[in-house]
Amino acid sequence: MTATGPTHEPTTAGTGLATSSPDTGPGATPLLEVRGLVVEYGRGHEASRAVDDVSFSIPRGGSLAVVGESGSGKSTIARALVRLVRPTGGSMVFDGHDLTTLSERRLRPLRHRIQMVFQDPYGSLDPHQCARDIVAEPIAARGERSRRVRERRAAELLDQVGLPQSALQRKPHEFSGGQRQRIGIARALASEPDLLVLDEATSALDVSVQAQVLDILAELRREKGLTYLFISHNLGVVRVVSDEVLVLRAGRVVEQGPTAGVLQQPREDYTRRLRRSALEPALMSGRKPRDVVRHIAAARAAETAAAQAAEAQGVAS
Ligand code: ADP
Ligand code: MG
Repeated sequence: MTATGPTHEPTTAGTGLATSSPDTGPGATPLLEVRGLVVEYGRGHEASRAVDDVSFSIPRGGSLAVVGESGSGKSTIARALVRLVRPTGGSMVFDGHDLTTLSERRLRPLRHRIQMVFQDPYGSLDPHQCARDIVAEPIAARGERSRRVRERRAAELLDQVGLPQSALQRKPHEFSGGQRQRIGIARALASEPDLLVLDEATSALDVSVQAQVLDILAELRREKGLTYLFISHNLGVVRVVSDEVLVLRAGRVVEQGPTAGVLQQPREDYTRRLRRSALEPALMSGRKPRDVVRHIAAARAAETAAAQAAEAQGVAS
């Protein structure tokens, strides 16, 4: 990864969960290479720069986390990738194709290869469709004509994200937030993507459910060799799914490098603050994601209890 901000030397330290596949080593052609990306909203005097000279690359099978406080430009990078916004400058080369200059017609065959998973997929799930049909739809869009094949494939995908067969016929409102997020992931996988862009995909979930979804993502990555761009405001969760981290502040890269290095020895105050807010000590010890999240939950509960105690004391005095 070439950096515009301070960089960390590669390190072999890690949890063993965010594993690299053999073709992610130095010299391998990246699946995605973003150079000098600039995105502005509005025009002329009104223009505001949401992303300012951001560069990164993700090897095939690799996983990069983009972390930063709210409003730092994370979602704008994701939107630029799927062309929901047009960059003002820079390039985004996906498997040899520059997404910024490609015509709509030439972009079309690539579209299925980059799939987004949002914070709450509720809005994008048709409330009248059952889970199986929701997941089968992109399979039909990919040209599969046999209904039986589509339904079997959808059932397999729902199974892969850990939903029971009984889920097949149920509608979105009959699921919990975590289950709906799994449907969203299964639906994204149904398009047979190479790159999954996960924008705060687990942020709305409570910690134990978040751990389950992160586990599934880590496993899918190992099994399918998927490549992730994992966006989060929480520096804590990235450890589970990302080899590399890019820290974003006000649209600019503050720091980037291997996840373990950035987490253990952040070079910037901003990163240290993000790390503190993620209750990072729990993430330093190479634990399993489930244990890490349990630890965070316990720490949060303790903090809440302490705050309540302090408040009660304040009221008493
Ligand atoms: P993040 O995902 O990190 O919270 P965003 O990429 O959504 O940040 O936003 C980056 C900046 O761009 C923010 O200042 C935000 O207010 C601004 N922004 C986002 N979307 C729009 C838009 N459609 N029009 C104008 N400004 C926007
Ligand atoms: Mg966002």
